[in-house]
Amino acid sequence: MNTIITKFGGSSLADANQFKKVKDIICANESRKYVVPSAPGKRNSKDSKITDLLYLCHAHVNAGISLDDVFNHIRERYVGIVHDLKLNFNIEEHLSIIKKDLEDGASSDYAASRGEYLNSLILSNYLGFEFVDAKDVIVFNNDGSLDSNATHCALRETLSSIPRAVIPGFYGADKEGNIVTFSRGGSDVTGALVTASLNADLYENWTDVSGFLMADPRIINNPKPISTITYTELRELSYMGASVLHEDAIFPVREVGIPINIKNTNRPEDKGTFIVEDLLKSDLQTITGIAGKKDFTVISIAKALMNSELGFCRKLLSILEQHNVSFENMPSGIDTVCLVISDSQLKNKKESIIDEIKRSCNPDSIVVHPNMALITTVGKGMTKQKGVAAKIFTALSKADINIRMIDQGSSEINILVGIENDNFEKAIHAIYDAFN
Ligand code: ASP
Repeated sequence: MNTIITKFGGSSLADANQFKKVKDIICANESRKYVVPSAPGKRNSKDSKITDLLYLCHAHVNAGISLDDVFNHIRERYVGIVHDLKLNFNIEEHLSIIKKDLEDGASSDYAASRGEYLNSLILSNYLGFEFVDAKDVIVFNNDGSLDSNATHCALRETLSSIPRAVIPGFYGADKEGNIVTFSRGGSDVTGALVTASLNADLYENWTDVSGFLMADPRIINNPKPISTITYTELRELSYMGASVLHEDAIFPVREVGIPINIKNTNRPEDKGTFIVEDLLKSDLQTITGIAGKKDFTVISIAKALMNSELGFCRKLLSILEQHNVSFENMPSGIDTVCLVISDSQLKNKKESIIDEIKRSCNPDSIVVHPNMALITTVGKGMTKQKGVAAKIFTALSKADINIRMIDQGSSEINILVGIENDNFEKAIHAIYDAFN
């Protein structure tokens, strides 16, 4: 029988009704043997995520303020779920221990992790699956980085004798037993680690959307769904902000060639999106998706004979490194080079970076262009195909949009354009319409 690892996000487990959907999904396929839950998420737009409330409890204790009010909200959520599911499970006992730990000054990682811990205890009880604490199977080094080898060994060893289990997402423990969390959204990473360690057949990541869409639905009305996407394409799209999945969740499963299926807990009949290593020829679309982001600044540097000056770019990039700033893109000409940097990276550092470039690189001119947006059009199917770039540029020109920058890597899976912020939505529409 196949083995499927299922990870359910916070909105999939936000209340008892959602728990029921999750149980139906798991019962519908016996291969769904190991389940990785998140903490309860928002039930509506005004609601709070349990993880946020737990961080708040920790902040209250740190500031010497009582955590009673916030903790009561947390208690109500969990007690409500247990009650509505009619479970004979003493959640109060666990809540009291956690409250005391928090009052005694437990770490912020410990506080945040309890959302997944409690939700997994409830879910394991509800499903009749064994509970495996992530602190025993997800191993961190004492510097906070993941110890992948130890994690794979611990997962394999523990789960080999347990046919069906619930393993909380988001956290593990270091070698001293201290609880350590991944960055926000990290339950995806736990699911990926369990999948890779057990060499499972599929990693199902259940959320509240039916997979990826070809473009942002806030801009394009009802964009087409993406049925299959490669890891490389997804990386190009997520790099521009299309994030449904934690970035670190991709590498463990990709390494061992296991596909991920993004599924919707509220519409389990939808196929969702498969993320795979390679596409069948029949699945190749010219364009898989379009994504973009506003608010970049371009620093354009010119110097005569730049192309023959050894070490020019090294000096330039080391200035960014010294300022702890990463760049998004670096298009260049024979005597010019542009640094495209997101405004969030550049804040408060622009003047100092420019001064340093003047001092170290001695350029003929430096010009700063703010308010730039980047749009990437991604598709493995565009490789070796003629006319894709022409189609994008014609669409933008017809929409009266000036292209300020163009970039295409030799892998030919994406074409990046830089335009004015003000033209962002119009440009996404123009490109989407040209291919649909
Ligand atoms: N509960 C954690 C968060 O809100 C982790 C997760 O949901 O994946 O970030």
